[in-house]
Order: sequence, then structure tokens, then C-alpha cells
Amino acid sequence: MGHRSVSFGEFYARRRYSAAMTSETSTLPTSDQIRRAPKVLLHDHLDGGLRPGTIVELAHARGYAGLPESDPEKLGTWFREAADSGSLERYLETFAHTCAVMQTREALTRVAAECAEDLAADGVVYAEIRYAPEQHLEGGLSLEEVVEAVNDGFREGERRARAAGHRIRVGALLTAMRHAARALEIAELANRYRDLGVVGFDIAGAEAGYPPTRHLDAFEYLKRENNHFTIHAGEAFGLPSIWQALQWCGADRLGHGVRIIDDIQVGDDGTITLGRLASYVRDKRIPLEMCPSSNLQTGAAPSYAEHPIGLLRRLQFRLTVNTDNRLMSGTTMSREFEHLVRTFRYTLDDMQWFTVNAMKSAFIPFDERLAMINDVIKPGYAELRAEWLFPKAAPTSV
Ligand SMILES: [Zn+2]
Repeated sequence: MGHRSVSFGEFYARRRYSAAMTSETSTLPTSDQIRRAPKVLLHDHLDGGLRPGTIVELAHARGYAGLPESDPEKLGTWFREAADSGSLERYLETFAHTCAVMQTREALTRVAAECAEDLAADGVVYAEIRYAPEQHLEGGLSLEEVVEAVNDGFREGERRARAAGHRIRVGALLTAMRHAARALEIAELANRYRDLGVVGFDIAGAEAGYPPTRHLDAFEYLKRENNHFTIHAGEAFGLPSIWQALQWCGADRLGHGVRIIDDIQVGDDGTITLGRLASYVRDKRIPLEMCPSSNLQTGAAPSYAEHPIGLLRRLQFRLTVNTDNRLMSGTTMSREFEHLVRTFRYTLDDMQWFTVNAMKSAFIPFDERLAMINDVIKPGYAELRAEWLFPKAAPTSV
């Protein structure tokens, strides 16, 4: 599918799809501007974002001897390399270690607090962080205790971020594992903790052999409760997975959804034809939680340049940019945007477009999303865009 984004005419993108955007500055955002720009993160796994040093300390405290490295730096490298192997199944293996050290209340609270702190320092103003409560019961915690420990951590992280001069708001998404049979139970848990720090539900894990329709009862329950959910679909697996997630399960958003590109044809003359499913996704403004670096590691995309995000952005799908697993991908929101800026020459306007898309697609109430867009995100980008007006002081001449 790589040829598609290349054969797609640049003129088409600029002429047809940039009309609604505000004026562009000719320069690309600097690394520092990317970091300071307000960012919104919708797809990030709590057990995929631990600090390597924290893993080492927690393993020591719990007597977990399974870590492949005891030096934090080497351990960080090990995670990235293991995740680089190219298969989703192998990628998921790395989580055995992170989950092993997240089995007590203290560990969960610490990891959640550091997550919020790290994101805030990276300029993230709103995040929905997901985790599977059922994977944190080995130390004797109940599902409720897991949720409360993580919530406590997020609140603590928000406080620490504020003390450090940052602002962030974090909501939790409760994930059920595709291969397990606890989806309904986890969905009920998500519903019980609604308005108490949990904003939605998700299913994750290996896609092949575990279609989302396996958990239909959970999705139907959430719909009856007027609750929100996203589904990992269209990452390793193609269009049928996306179609099921939307038309059978009723997902509000798609985790990845990157294979929607398979339903888009680009002719030699640059004409684009959207299939029925791709049209539906775009027409209904279904948010796609794109995770470029993660997709490169799992083989869902061959390179940043050939990542479907380039074409999908030009076609104005409701795209969002995400990290997925910061530890395994050695990434941050800023780093994801750096790659996109370098590859597609995205400007601050593009960054704002992705960020507003993400905020519109969040699971918190509409009035709060709107206030985040108008009072936090847009002023933040306006301030960055205005920086060229005030050049840094030139050295004084002698
Ligand atoms: Zn994910």
C-alpha cells in the first residue's frame, strides 16, 4: 500500500483539503515548539509506559527475578529491541515483565502518577490512559482495588505536574483482553467507576482469532448504559475487523484503524476512490487512533513516509496521533509529532488539527471538550504561531 501515498498529487492535498485551515507559517515547528505545544493523547497503555528505572525498583521490591536486564538504560534498550521484532505477538510478550511489577496498590499508584507526570512534562494537556484490571490481580488485589489505585496515581500525577508548572487531566479506559472471557465484567466495572476517573472501555490483545464480536455482550451492555468504548481493530488485521468493530459492536473510536487504507484506491492519475467502509468511517467522523511508531514495530506500516496517516490526513479522516506504548517504542507524543513533521512537513496548523481532532473525540462531556479546545488548545497554538513575531534577542554589536 506504500505506493498510494506517493502517487497522490501534492496539488490535490493543498488545493482541496487545506481550504478550511488557518494560515500556515512557512517554517516547520522546532523540537522545542513541538514539546511545548498542547497535545492530546487518546491511545496509550499504562503497562506500556513505565520508566525503566521504576521497573527495576519495583522488581527489586517485589522479588521479581525475571527481568532480562537490571540496569535501567540497558533495560530500556531491551524493551525497544524486543518490540522491534516485527510481530504483534512478540510485541505483546514484553508486557509480561511490566505487568509482573504492577501487582500491588503502591506499584500501580506509582506507575500511574509517573505516567501523568511524564505526559505533562511532554506538553500533553489531556490523556486517556488504558489498562486491563484483570492483569493486575496476582498480588491479591480485587478489580476495584486496581481501579482505585490507578485513579489515585493519576490524581497524584496531576498534582505533581501542576506543582512543576504543567497542566494535565487524565482519564482511565478499562481494557478487557480479547483472548479472555471477562469483557462483560470489565465493562460493568468501567460503568461503575464512570464519573469516578474512568471515562470508557476498550478491548486489546492479539487480533487474529479473537474478533471483537466475541465480546458483543460487553458492547451491548455499554450501549444500553450510554457509555463509551473504543476497540483495537485494523492493526494487524484488515477491514473485516474494522467493519465488525463499527457495525456489529458499535465502537465510538477505532484503536489504530490503520488498515482502513485497504478500502481506498488511488489511480495512476491521482484519483481517489473510497470504498463503502472507508466512506462510512470518514462520513461519520469515526476517530482513528493512529500510533505511527508502534505500527512500524508491529509491521502494520513499513515506514513513516509510507504510513497511511499521510494519505488519510489529506483525505480529512478524523485522525489522532498517539504513542500506544512509550516504553516499547521509546517514544513520546513529541517524538511522534517530530517524525510526522519531518516526514510530511506538518506545520503547527497540522499539529493543531490533529490535537483538536483528538479532543473532539475524547470521552469526557462535550462542554468540557469544547472548553479544552477553546481555552487551552487553540490559545496554546496561537501563542506558538506568534513566536516568529518576536525574534530572540540578537547579540549586541560592539
Ligand atoms: Zn494499543
